[in-house]
Amino acid sequence: CGIIGYTGAKDPVAVAVEGLRRLEYRGYDSAGIALADKGGLRTWKKSGKLANLEAALDGREAAEGDVRSAIGHTRWATHGVPSDRNAHPHASQDGRIALIHNGIIENFSQLRSELAAQGTAFASDTDSEVAAQLLAAEYAEDGDLAAAMRRVCKRLEGSFTFLAQAADHPGLIVGARRNSPLVAGIGEGEYFLASDVAAFISHTTEAIELGQDQVVSISPAGLTVTSLDGEEVEGKRYSVDWDI
Ligand code: GLU
Repeated sequence: CGIIGYTGAKDPVAVAVEGLRRLEYRGYDSAGIALADKGGLRTWKKSGKLANLEAALDGREAAEGDVRSAIGHTRWATHGVPSDRNAHPHASQDGRIALIHNGIIENFSQLRSELAAQGTAFASDTDSEVAAQLLAAEYAEDGDLAAAMRRVCKRLEGSFTFLAQAADHPGLIVGARRNSPLVAGIGEGEYFLASDVAAFISHTTEAIELGQDQVVSISPAGLTVTSLDGEEVEGKRYSVDWDI
């Protein structure tokens, strides 16, 4: 129900937790975070209040290394009961991808059957996990996470905001949207992706609104937006004018 992603020099897990707090008003039943750093991907996810996730995060070693990123999610269950295993982020079977999703994938059961027939073992009952498994299969083709995301989106029906990151590419977050909101925040050497500017407004008021069927990549070096056909597009940039 709420989504936040961060890449930059700050502790990305702390930024993600703070972002999730600011999205709490939307309502949720579970919460989770995936961190990508030089150690690969690590995920924490818990049903119930954010405090449960924070307790699980307590005592984690500070993320070290100069390139790191995190994605965070609050879930409002539509497919699969609220539980730790159905909470997001979802990992692909090969462990290379972590993905979060807001919305509903209408054709998930057909895709799930296809993947299961090919030997994919599922770790949750959600519609979202098919996107994580498909993304990993596409990523294995060419190691280009944004291109893989574009190919996955073309196979999906329904509504989605996705954020994903790969174990072998810390610092890079790829997002996509259809019929569900996604906004990028532009800082200095740091970028945010969120379902709502509230998630990053304490860090930056410069934002880019993503359009329908657009894919965005952020890393500390910059931001790129493309259409599903891979053509670069100019995002709609604006300054958030809020009293905070
Ligand atoms: N359909 C997904 C699920 O049930 C995502 C729900 C949401 O938007 O939080 O896990």
